[in-house]
Amino acid sequence: MGPPVCLEMIRLVIAGIIVYVVYRLSKSLFAPSEKILKGRSGGTSRIKGEELVKDPCCGTYVPINSAHKATLNGKTLYFCSRECLEKYMKENN
Ligand SMILES: [Zn+2]
Repeated sequence: MGPPVCLEMIRLVIAGIIVYVVYRLSKSLFAPSEKILKGRSGGTSRIKGEELVKDPCCGTYVPINSAHKATLNGKTLYFCSRECLEKYMKENN
Protein backbone atom coordinates (compact mmCIF):
# COMPACT_ATOMS: atom_id res chain seq x y z
CA MET A 1 0.00 0.00 0.00
CA GLY A 2 2.90 2.26 0.76
CA PRO A 3 5.09 1.91 -2.33
CA PRO A 4 2.46 2.80 -5.00
CA VAL A 5 1.79 6.12 -3.27
CA CYS A 6 5.52 6.83 -3.12
CA LEU A 7 5.91 6.06 -6.83
CA GLU A 8 3.00 8.32 -7.61
CA MET A 9 4.65 11.12 -5.65
CA ILE A 10 8.01 10.55 -7.36
CA ARG A 11 6.25 10.71 -10.72
CA LEU A 12 4.62 13.98 -9.76
CA VAL A 13 7.93 15.39 -8.57
CA ILE A 14 9.67 14.30 -11.78
CA ALA A 15 6.85 15.76 -13.87
CA GLY A 16 7.19 18.97 -11.89
CA ILE A 17 10.94 19.08 -12.49
CA ILE A 18 10.45 18.49 -16.22
CA VAL A 19 7.88 21.27 -16.44
CA TYR A 20 10.21 23.57 -14.49
CA VAL A 21 13.21 22.73 -16.68
CA VAL A 22 11.20 23.25 -19.88
CA TYR A 23 9.91 26.55 -18.48
CA ARG A 24 13.42 27.69 -17.59
CA LEU A 25 14.78 26.63 -20.99
CA SER A 26 12.07 28.47 -22.88
CA LYS A 27 12.72 31.52 -20.71
CA SER A 28 16.47 31.36 -21.28
CA LEU A 29 15.83 31.48 -25.02
CA PHE A 30 14.56 35.01 -24.55
CA ALA A 31 17.07 35.91 -21.87
CA PRO A 32 20.07 36.68 -24.12
CA SER A 33 18.42 39.77 -25.60
CA GLU A 34 17.69 40.97 -22.06
CA LYS A 35 21.30 40.40 -21.05
CA ILE A 36 22.61 42.30 -24.07
CA LEU A 37 20.31 45.20 -23.27
CA LYS A 38 21.53 45.22 -19.67
CA GLY A 39 25.16 45.11 -20.80
CA ARG A 40 24.63 47.97 -23.21
CA SER A 41 22.89 50.17 -20.69
CA GLY A 42 26.28 50.66 -19.04
CA GLY A 43 27.65 52.49 -22.04
CA THR A 44 25.06 54.74 -23.60
CA SER A 45 27.65 56.30 -25.91
CA ARG A 46 27.89 52.95 -27.68
CA ILE A 47 26.97 54.28 -31.13
CA LYS A 48 29.67 56.98 -30.98
CA GLY A 49 32.43 54.70 -29.70
CA GLU A 50 31.54 51.69 -31.80
CA GLU A 51 30.64 53.25 -35.10
CA LEU A 52 31.18 50.62 -37.75
CA VAL A 53 33.68 51.20 -40.51
CA LYS A 54 34.25 48.98 -43.52
CA ASP A 55 37.53 47.20 -43.98
CA PRO A 56 38.34 47.85 -47.69
CA CYS A 57 40.53 44.75 -47.80
CA CYS A 58 38.15 41.99 -46.69
CA GLY A 59 34.88 43.94 -46.49
CA THR A 60 34.33 43.31 -42.79
CA TYR A 61 32.67 45.95 -40.66
CA VAL A 62 34.76 46.84 -37.63
CA PRO A 63 34.04 49.11 -34.65
CA ILE A 64 35.95 52.34 -35.24
CA ASN A 65 37.68 52.29 -31.85
CA SER A 66 39.16 48.84 -32.38
CA ALA A 67 39.97 49.26 -36.07
CA HIS A 68 43.50 49.58 -37.44
CA LYS A 69 43.85 53.03 -38.94
CA ALA A 70 45.90 53.91 -41.97
CA THR A 71 46.08 56.90 -44.28
CA LEU A 72 46.29 56.41 -48.01
CA ASN A 73 46.29 59.35 -50.47
CA GLY A 74 44.95 61.61 -47.74
CA LYS A 75 42.08 59.23 -46.94
CA THR A 76 41.74 57.53 -43.58
CA LEU A 77 41.12 53.83 -43.93
CA TYR A 78 40.09 51.33 -41.27
CA PHE A 79 41.01 47.68 -41.17
CA CYS A 80 39.91 44.73 -39.05
CA SER A 81 43.46 43.56 -38.53
CA ARG A 82 47.08 44.51 -39.07
CA GLU A 83 47.31 41.78 -41.75
CA CYS A 84 44.49 43.39 -43.76
CA LEU A 85 46.07 46.81 -43.36
CA GLU A 86 49.45 45.62 -44.61
CA LYS A 87 47.94 43.58 -47.43
CA TYR A 88 45.86 46.53 -48.63
CA MET A 89 48.79 48.93 -48.41
CA LYS A 90 50.98 46.58 -50.43
CA GLU A 91 48.31 46.14 -53.12
CA ASN A 92 47.78 49.89 -53.40
CA ASN A 93 51.37 50.98 -53.72
ZN1 LIG B 1 40.01 42.62 -42.78
